[in-house]
Amino acid sequence: MIKHVFGPVASRRLGISLGVDIIPFKTCTLDCLYCECGRTTDLTIERKSFVDPQLILGEIKEIITRDPHIEYITFSGSGEPTLNIDIGNIITGIKTITTIPIAILTNGTLLHRETVRKEIANADVVCPSLDAAAPETFAVLNRPHKGLTINTIINGLIDFRKAFRGEIWLEVFIAKGINDSDHELGKIYQAIKKIRPDKVQLNSLDRPPACEHIYPVDIDMLEQIVKKWKDLPMPVEIIKRIRRREEIAAFSHNLENNILNTINRRPLTINDLVTLTGKNRLEIFKYIDVLEKEKKIYPKIVGDKIFYAPISRYL
Ligand code: SF4
Repeated sequence: MIKHVFGPVASRRLGISLGVDIIPFKTCTLDCLYCECGRTTDLTIERKSFVDPQLILGEIKEIITRDPHIEYITFSGSGEPTLNIDIGNIITGIKTITTIPIAILTNGTLLHRETVRKEIANADVVCPSLDAAAPETFAVLNRPHKGLTINTIINGLIDFRKAFRGEIWLEVFIAKGINDSDHELGKIYQAIKKIRPDKVQLNSLDRPPACEHIYPVDIDMLEQIVKKWKDLPMPVEIIKRIRRREEIAAFSHNLENNILNTINRRPLTINDLVTLTGKNRLEIFKYIDVLEKEKKIYPKIVGDKIFYAPISRYL
């Protein structure tokens, strides 16, 4: 049974992407207010071996053999992938079985460690995030492990840029009232100038977050930031979410109907759907996006959980 590899799913940033999840849910160095996976249950900076790399490589081989359209193999999923101490071996193993480029979605918090920088050096694209350059904002928005400081993280990104030969696409998440002031944006701008990624990608909230007290900025605000940052030497773009059914690679009508029928019986969280379907949460999100856009379901926050319910309960 395939357990650690999911999709392929359509990603606006990476096209048709095969997801590789090498971290147990939900293990991370941060506990971001906006995390769509929910609260971090294991907040740690200790790297560990979580799963046999051969198992992961076997799963990847099985899927890429039957699907010739995959554009990226992407490390993403239930937490911070560089916490897996075997990530370097897994990357090396992938390179021996395929030429499909490798992307890593990371929060960048461990890149100050030389060993982590070396382990991911053979990836083709690394997409780190940087949402704050001031310690207070970092603490509020990203709720880091106490062993992390934002200055060390920014220096780690600068060092990584110096040695990494692939592309770095830096994602900046903008939250209303937290990091959208001129002062905060100015600090992030200065950090980006030092990091020198190949491009900057702006994002805001469009899925229910881990916490109720966070709000998105609208598209006008993101466009204003693009204008403000026009002097940066790299492109700055806005990430938009894909919501079209035909853009979900390996789309399954059966799975969509299954999700909808189950939600019609009772409101469910993403975790419930993951357990019921045996699919990866990022894959489930793609179906939830389509059903939400078509106004068949809606998200409702109850306590610290997000339930998806049929729209008829809302009307
Ligand atoms: S770094 Fe990513 S996985 Fe970790 S809490 Fe933040 S958004 Fe979630």
